[in-house]
Amino acid sequence: MRSLDDLAASGRTVLVRSDLNVPLATDASGQPVITDDSRIRASVGTIRRLSDAGARVVVLAHLGRPKGEPDPAFSLAPAATRLGELLGREVVLADEVSGPAAHAVVAAMSDGDVVMLENVRFDARETSKDAAERTALAGEWASLADAYVSDGFGVVHREQASVSDIARLLPSYPGDLVGAEVAVFTRVLTDPERPYVVVLGGSKVSDKLGVIAHLLPRVDRLLIGGGMCFTFLAAQGHGVGRSLLEADQIDTVRGFIEEAATRGVELVLPVDVVVASQISDTAETQIVPIDAIPDDLMGLDIGPESIALFRNRLADARTVVWNGPMGVFEKTPFAAGTREVALAVAAIDGMSVVGGGDSAAAVHLLGVPADEFSHISTGGGASLEFLEGKTLPGLAALEETS
Ligand code: ADP
Ligand code: MG
Repeated sequence: MRSLDDLAASGRTVLVRSDLNVPLATDASGQPVITDDSRIRASVGTIRRLSDAGARVVVLAHLGRPKGEPDPAFSLAPAATRLGELLGREVVLADEVSGPAAHAVVAAMSDGDVVMLENVRFDARETSKDAAERTALAGEWASLADAYVSDGFGVVHREQASVSDIARLLPSYPGDLVGAEVAVFTRVLTDPERPYVVVLGGSKVSDKLGVIAHLLPRVDRLLIGGGMCFTFLAAQGHGVGRSLLEADQIDTVRGFIEEAATRGVELVLPVDVVVASQISDTAETQIVPIDAIPDDLMGLDIGPESIALFRNRLADARTVVWNGPMGVFEKTPFAAGTREVALAVAAIDGMSVVGGGDSAAAVHLLGVPADEFSHISTGGGASLEFLEGKTLPGLAALEETS
């Protein structure tokens, strides 16, 4: 893969694919407001660096899921405004994705200028299954520019015109954000400092089978909480009441338990859980040992003894990858496990990595100091696919770049 250091940016027109897919709400006057700008903040570095180097920066991004045609509800206008504020320079938004208006805006640029094209998903070819259609759209963008920079880590697992097809048409480079994400995940897959502990949680074990399979040969300890722990507990013969259980995965999970034993990987499961009859902010809760989950209740968080156990098994770690909340952290009665485990991960003396969209959201929601982690990934789906050992189309295309 090339490096952005190799790009002689001055005077060149450079397309930058960023992930600016921020959550929006509407204010009292009906105007869209960004409720969390962290994706824009994470994208500023590369754009500023190129602009400072005298490039004419053309930002490509998507917002939400418009239906392949222009839709003002999904305009990138709020993102362009916020990017401009963070950069401290004007960001002009072209009102088209490609075509004459986009060409005109780019033609009028001076060195150092930053413009943004409208939501790439306003053009159905962006996400088309037909490679020829995607390549046609990518070709329109390529005709505007001299180089392409891939900096939207949250989309590198997508085979899309602005992510992979474009990279085959122009000299292409990873941006600083993509470079940093790739470096972190490559490190934890290939050269982790030990003890190496992976903490997995979240809702469904079936979402994480590939991650478990790929990480088991690499880790020293695997700690499992969240909804997925109940399929492990069931595989060990425990009753799990009305907790999340994927009965069709019990055999697969039993295989993981055996593999962990064979490989000498320490598998750590909760020893107690917080149970309730409903998922709500006012739910009445009880703490029970895992061999005494009542038939009519659900396990919705790991219990205090499990928190102490997980904390203990994290304390000496030199590398931790954490993916998936320990409980239904969105509801106060079930947030403690996720908060305490997040704090324990952040506190290790070594490399602490958070992957997964909901896990990153939990860090912010629960007030865990984000800067105490070595890295919080900006790509939920992409980080999972990376940890599964999959080939990510946007990264593969960078290696095939023209
Ligand atoms: P990530 O996005 O970090 O990969 P997931 O999407 O796998 O995480 O899972 C996040 C969801 O898992 C959260 O919405 C949380 O409420 C849910 N969850 C965690 N523990 C439980 C549980 N015991 N029962 C039901 N849902 C749970
Ligand atoms: Mg999720």
